[in-house]
Amino acid sequence: METFVYLDHNATTEIYPAVKKAILHALDVTGNASSVHGAGRAARKLIEDSRESVAALVATKPENVIFNSGGTESNNMAIRFFGNRIRKNRILASAVEHDSVLKVSPNIELIPVDNDGIVNLKALDEMLALSSSSKGGNKTLVSVMLANNETGVIQPIKEVVSVARHHGALVHCDAVQAAGKVPIDINSLGVDFLSLSAHKIGGPAGVGALVIKEGLTKIIKLSPILYGGGQERGHRAGSENISGIMGFGLAAKHALENLPKIKNLATLRDQVEEKLSIHKDVRIFGAGVSRLANTCNLTMPGVAADRQLIAFDLAGISLSAGSACSSGKVKPSHVLAAMGIVDEVSSTAIRISLGWTTKNQDIDRFIKVWNEIFKRSKSSLKKLEAA
Ligand code: PLP
Repeated sequence: METFVYLDHNATTEIYPAVKKAILHALDVTGNASSVHGAGRAARKLIEDSRESVAALVATKPENVIFNSGGTESNNMAIRFFGNRIRKNRILASAVEHDSVLKVSPNIELIPVDNDGIVNLKALDEMLALSSSSKGGNKTLVSVMLANNETGVIQPIKEVVSVARHHGALVHCDAVQAAGKVPIDINSLGVDFLSLSAHKIGGPAGVGALVIKEGLTKIIKLSPILYGGGQERGHRAGSENISGIMGFGLAAKHALENLPKIKNLATLRDQVEEKLSIHKDVRIFGAGVSRLANTCNLTMPGVAADRQLIAFDLAGISLSAGSACSSGKVKPSHVLAAMGIVDEVSSTAIRISLGWTTKNQDIDRFIKVWNEIFKRSKSSLKKLEAA
């Protein structure tokens, strides 16, 4: 019997066994981390130890890490940190951002990207120039992700920061997909806010963090999106998800250690691309630019992505069409559209994303099944044409 092959690690990656154990251990800790008694202090210790590990993943100090419910909340927090007056305070986001950035407000202005999905720095500069001379203390936030979830394309964040600083704008970077796949140093990137999510790095879903640049809270007053108890130094109210945070912390440690292994996945990914690009008209998006080692977004000419997904699923292979975060619905990808890819082509694109559990055999199986589906589709098309 063929085994199950999971090639959807950008949607969620498999949890590390040690993380699972740590979560179970944390569930035995009864204290509320805000309580001053011994049980509360034990819970607090788990959180603060995890904060150190998450901080280490992005080379910052623990006090700059605000725990929350995941990447979506982190992105919302960053955009909402200016409060709800987005009309007054401009938000500029790249056209290929995740919906948890783009849908926060209808007033978000889109920064165009080129055919590889790289943000257009000249356009950003021109857009920022429109407000940099404005008076009255209005603020501008630029939001550009470190790596794209659909294509894996890596953005020139340092350059984005340099353009933004020239106009006095702050920068948010969604590093949800990049974390655990490339080394991250928030200070070297120079960004003000950075989003992380545990379930993309081998931790549990439903926990994440917004990391704030050292010293930023001393300069500007940030508005939380949840009010209540003063948890997370007043930035995020609500009793902490202790077991989730514990799992996140341990996953961050493993992810940091596993960076070289994830980098090596490029060998397997390149094997796929080499073997499948021999077919006429197969397109691989972002192949010519810097990309995450684990991600490949490619078309199967003439075969709709939803048909491919079903065929792969029947063959025991899990993968995605575009972004799987939109709850299993296959809709045209706004990322590929922003890259100038017409719907007719983008609707035939699937994404495979490899992870720490991916083996050579998984890739061989994927290539074999891809070829079978393609051959079958071509022959049924020929029959239809002949009829
Ligand atoms: N940002 C990016 C780039 C993502 O890929 C995702 C999820 O796939 C998110 C944000 C949302 O993260 P979460 O699932 O933790 O809410």
